[in-house]
Parts: sequence; C-alpha cells; structure tokens
Amino acid sequence: ILLLRKTDVVNILNDIVKTIEDNRQYLTDLDAAIGDADHGINLDRGFKAVRDKMTQFSDKDIGTILKNVGMVLVSTVGGASGPLYGTFFMRMGNVVSGKNTLDENDIVAMFEAGLSGIKERGKAQVGDKTMIDSMEPALNELKKALSEGRGLKEAIEAAANNAYNGVLMTKDIAAKKGRASYLGERSIGHQDPGATSAYLMIKTVADYVDK
Ligand code: ADP
Ligand code: MG
Ligand code: MG
Repeated sequence: ILLLRKTDVVNILNDIVKTIEDNRQYLTDLDAAIGDADHGINLDRGFKAVRDKMTQFSDKDIGTILKNVGMVLVSTVGGASGPLYGTFFMRMGNVVSGKNTLDENDIVAMFEAGLSGIKERGKAQVGDKTMIDSMEPALNELKKALSEGRGLKEAIEAAANNAYNGVLMTKDIAAKKGRASYLGERSIGHQDPGATSAYLMIKTVADYVDK
C-alpha cells in the first residue's frame, strides 16, 4: 500500500510550483480569451511565494504544511482563484492535522474537504465552467477506482485523466461564475483557465506517484 510521507508532500508542492511556472503563459492565454489575462501570472506569483516560504513550515506536520500553503496562496494569488485555491489547501490541511503520512482514505478525505470549501466559498457547481469542472470528476474517479480495489497510484492516474475530460467539457459550456460569466454564451468554445490549472496540479500529483 502506497503512503505519502511528509517529504513526498513537500516534493509534490515543489513540483506544482514548477508546473505552474511552465504553464504560466498557457494559463494566462486561456484567461485572455474569456477573462482578464492574469490566471497564470496570479498562480505563478502565489506558488513562487509558497516555494520561497517553504522552509518556514516544511518540518511541521502535513496538516500544518498545507494550511500554511493555503494562507500563502490567499495572501499572494489575488483574483477569484486566490481565495478559492487558498481555501482548498487550508481545508485539506484541516483534515490531516497532526499527520506525518497520508493513506488513501486521508487523500480522499482531503480532496473532498478541499472541494467542498471551494464550492461553499465560490457558490459554483459542476457545469458552471470553473475549476470545479475538472476537480469534481477527478474526485469521483479517484473514489470509484479505489472502491474497485485499484491501487492509489492507478487511482490518481485515473483521476487525472478524468480531470482532463472535465477540462475539455468546459469548452462546450457557457460560464455561470467568475469573470467569464460576463460573456455568457460568448464564453462557449473556450477552455476554462481554472479548470485547466486544477487539472495540471492533479496531473503533477499523478506524475509524482508514478515515478
Ligand atoms: P480573476 O477572474 O479574478 O482574474 P483568475 O484569473 O486567477 O481570477 O481565475 C479565474 C478562474 O477562477 C476561472 O477560470 C475559474 O475556473 C475560477 N473561478 C472563478 N469564479 C469561481 C467560482 N465562483 N467558483 C469556482 N471557481 C471560480
Ligand atoms: Mg483572470
Ligand atoms: Mg484578475
């Protein structure tokens, strides 16, 4: 059985910093089409701040690490996505308070709590063309794969694949939340930046556990 240790969590966070840096322009270009062309810039600023502050909390338990990541994101990302991603990481941290390893139940519980936090805070649902459109299919697939007895590694990979299905789905629908909702039907045909960044983060976790 695969367990994620604290060092794995820190390594994954550093991998996410790199993923966001590599996709800064891509995410910003997606946001240029239906928003204000800053999503990649916002997240890159936030995750670079996470990287720079990491040594201040990387020796703490996993819950504390994730809560700190969330607080750094809230104070540095800005826009709509900053408080939402910040809430996601803070809620994940609350669920695993005091832990130094994570098993598959912890990972499901974290993801569930984080996504609930985003939904409460942003009042969006699947189909509104937001980050939820890749996160919720990922969570559903993760739970399904684990309940079928597939290992954590395979389950996270399946989750990432279904997150990507959600990203593609956002092209076909009109935005109901966030800046893109100002465009209404004119947002159809464009891929949601936040759904894309959420997918990229999940894919980064999948690539890490695959190594
Ligand atoms: P802003 O729109 O303030 O410039 P960003 O560009 O950083 O913020 O983030 C935009 C993304 O935030 C969108 O692509 C969408 O996925 C996500 N988003 C916006 N509003 C919500 C919401 N209410 N719930 C969930 N996600 C949202
Ligand atoms: Mg924006
Ligand atoms: Mg903005």
